[in-house]
Amino acid sequence: MKLTHQLDIIEKEGAEKEAENYQFRLFLKAQNSAEMDEAVHRLDAEITPQINCTECGNCCQSLMINVTAEENVRVAAHLNMPVADFTEKYIETSLQGDMIVNTIPCHFLQNRCCTVYEHRFTECRTFPGLHLPDFTGRLFSTFMHYGRCPIIYNVTEQLKAHLQWQYQPADTDS
Ligand code: SF4
Ligand code: SF4
Repeated sequence: MKLTHQLDIIEKEGAEKEAENYQFRLFLKAQNSAEMDEAVHRLDAEITPQINCTECGNCCQSLMINVTAEENVRVAAHLNMPVADFTEKYIETSLQGDMIVNTIPCHFLQNRCCTVYEHRFTECRTFPGLHLPDFTGRLFSTFMHYGRCPIIYNVTEQLKAHLQWQYQPADTDS
């Protein structure tokens, strides 16, 4: 199946397919978790290398990024800044008490590219996380980015085809 790369089309389908994707999420939730992981990991391994994140950067414009103490020190050093200055300028504490990057979109995004790429945070490296176990336990947070992330969009559409799943619209005539 041909991949879709155009961000405007993906965004449009994200809006148009809300009901369809909700129904697909309910279907996935009822499937065997290990079997879904196997299918998603295979599709992710095929699709992710074909997506150029530097032509997108949408996650950097929409994610709240958690930062560990070690990452805080590492990125501050990369920018030749004292840790205290870096923390004051770029980091805040979330309601849960965790350190997070204090702007969305992220400070370090310029022209859809990360300016601290080699030193970026673990959450940035991990997103969209389709290689991780327990895909069916993270459906809400994954599908939240369906209309923004070409990796999630294409893996989802190919998963529907692989599972021969078809949307059944509600019967509005009855
Ligand atoms: S640190 Fe880089 S990869 Fe992470 S959100 Fe910011 S711009 Fe994106
Ligand atoms: S939203 Fe998805 S495709 Fe876009 S930069 Fe982030 S991980 Fe890459």
